[in-house]
Amino acid sequence: MVGVVVDPDVLAPAGDGVELRDVIEVIDHEPFLPEAVVDLALWVGDYYASGPGEPLALAMPPAARRGERSSFRTRAIVELVQAPAVVKGAKQRRALELLADAAAPMALTDLVLQGVSAATVRTLARAGVVRLADEVTMRDPLAGGVGPHVWTLPADPTAAARELTTEQRAAFEALDAAASSGTFRAMLLHGVTGSGKTELYLRLAAAAVARGGRVLMLVPEIALTPAMAGVFRARFGEAIAIQHSALSDGERHDQWHRIRRGDIAIVVGTRSAVFAPLPDVRLIIVDEEHESSYKQEESPRYHGRDVAVMRARSAGALIVLGSATPSLESAANAGTGRYGLVRLTRRILDRPMATVQIVDMRTEYAAHGADVTLSAALVSAIDERLSRGEQTVVLLNRRGFATVVFCRQCGASLECPHCSVALTYHRAQRRVRCHYCNYAAAVPKRCGQCGGEYLEQSGFGTERLEADLRQRFPGARIARVDRDTVRRRGAMAGVLGSVARGDVDIVVGTQMIAKGHDFPAVTLVGVVSADVGLGLADFRAGERTFQLLTQVVGRAGRGDAPGQAIVQTLYPDHYSVRAAAAQDFDAFYAREMEFRRSLNYPPAVALINVVVKGRTLEQAMADATELAMLVRRAGGARRVVGPAPAALSKIKDEYRAQFFIKGSPRKSLRAALTAALDARPDLRRRTIVDVDPVSVI
Ligand code: ADP
Ligand code: ZN
Repeated sequence: MVGVVVDPDVLAPAGDGVELRDVIEVIDHEPFLPEAVVDLALWVGDYYASGPGEPLALAMPPAARRGERSSFRTRAIVELVQAPAVVKGAKQRRALELLADAAAPMALTDLVLQGVSAATVRTLARAGVVRLADEVTMRDPLAGGVGPHVWTLPADPTAAARELTTEQRAAFEALDAAASSGTFRAMLLHGVTGSGKTELYLRLAAAAVARGGRVLMLVPEIALTPAMAGVFRARFGEAIAIQHSALSDGERHDQWHRIRRGDIAIVVGTRSAVFAPLPDVRLIIVDEEHESSYKQEESPRYHGRDVAVMRARSAGALIVLGSATPSLESAANAGTGRYGLVRLTRRILDRPMATVQIVDMRTEYAAHGADVTLSAALVSAIDERLSRGEQTVVLLNRRGFATVVFCRQCGASLECPHCSVALTYHRAQRRVRCHYCNYAAAVPKRCGQCGGEYLEQSGFGTERLEADLRQRFPGARIARVDRDTVRRRGAMAGVLGSVARGDVDIVVGTQMIAKGHDFPAVTLVGVVSADVGLGLADFRAGERTFQLLTQVVGRAGRGDAPGQAIVQTLYPDHYSVRAAAAQDFDAFYAREMEFRRSLNYPPAVALINVVVKGRTLEQAMADATELAMLVRRAGGARRVVGPAPAALSKIKDEYRAQFFIKGSPRKSLRAALTAALDARPDLRRRTIVDVDPVSVI
């Protein structure tokens, strides 16, 4: 076991079941983690009820977690000490000539490549003519640019010199004043899509670095929103480290130590970068702060944005939360004045927002049958783009070919044997697949329930939509982006690159294509089944739909030609759809907050989602019922709702029952739950505690 000493001044715990072991070895004699990061990890362990071990492990590079000592990769170098008057032997002469020609010490491997053996070098070293030494070589993931799996725009050398717009300048001044004040401040930067938030981030970072501070920049997912990493790299060069899950252990190790030593001014990374050992953090930026990928869906179930706010607080730094579609939490905090608010209401160069047309698919089905995927309006709009040589993005947030395979005789549908979900048909693989546990099987010939021979498909995903588009527009160059097509490392970068070069006419895909991309030639966005996420049993369903639609509509018209969006839906009157079409955040926020308040959901109250797993649903329900009762008994102003079988009552052969603890303050909710779990310690391993859940399915 590897342990971390966080406080030497405590008594060892004693009591039943506590077994003390001796310390075998002390690995580091100086604090390995900076104090600020230890404090942050301990706070996370407490707040998210995970205990300190997991967050402390997150703060360390992988090798250190395993108890390995820090080790840099080294290479042998050879340095000429003094050229002797006489040299016996051609080999030694050759070695000395090469070393004399080289301005600096040479790598031993380079000498060997040029025909000098290591034995010769060692002989010279023994004679004191040359010196052999080990030199640390950094494993730099950015050695060849930002790396092959990260796509980036070519650097625009004029960008740093161009004038900020009036709105941008006012925003910069407000934010930079807060950044230079030396006190904690959280500011929400609410700027419509295409309003130039990225340029603001760059200027703020540059100003903070110029004052001698360091900057932490969090982004949702580097492989999907890669432009940000590339833009920062282009602007700041070597002073920047980019941290994400695709790095090798060796790269992480070296990068971690360079950051810890203070060699790095700016860290750009995904959520775990919030634990980067960066000294003197003066500015933290969280881009697309509403993104659900900031929340870790395994223990510790922390929210990178909220932990970043905590880090900024203890560092006395400014944190900027940027988004075109802020989370309800951040908008509410801005509403009460806890966070400052800076708005960018206009696009750069006063480019208009895309015009949005809502197509009611019920009318479309009535006219053309229930099998249509593309409305007449969308088809003719795509035709127009093709003839003008402009690009189209088509969003359908569901992958696969058919979402259900069912028996026409008895109505039974194919279900995953391990999860309570329908299997999706993937035509290219000729298999049905579970999107939760990845179970896959050949499509059966007969119904497993009644033996009937007529299995039919219904519902459609991106694979089917791609096929329909190919059939409807035979000449068009079409690319599909979803987890099936970009599974390989680098695949996403490949597609984005070809879109940027204009080698693609139509991009069809899931939410992956809705994120921050900036493609000026995209003038049309089509949304097929805008309501995919609306039916989910999750209080954030409306918020997620609004965000996704607003973001994808924001991909259109970012260049000189104005943009258009066509949104196909069965719920044209739903407020999430309407507000997104109008790109009216305030209207959406007012309506959604009303719902959260009336039904007691965050941010109106604090919420803990408790999921108890069991081998049978009965067992899970019985245990959840007892746990819920123990929480209720703890009294106080909190409310316990449930338990009930979870929306997905079985995942990977485990049954799940769930209940909510609601109320405030959060601390008292957590305390009640901890007391309940102390009374049933056997349930700890089977219980998921999710504080401030992002998804409750
Ligand atoms: P957002 O992140 O708000 O969606 P971006 O930062 O991607 O917007 O900016 C949109 C586009 O405007 C980008 O192509 C960017 O290079 C450009 N841009 C940003 N600021 C300026 C400026 N001051 N002058 C001209 N173009 C700008
Ligand atoms: Zn499954």
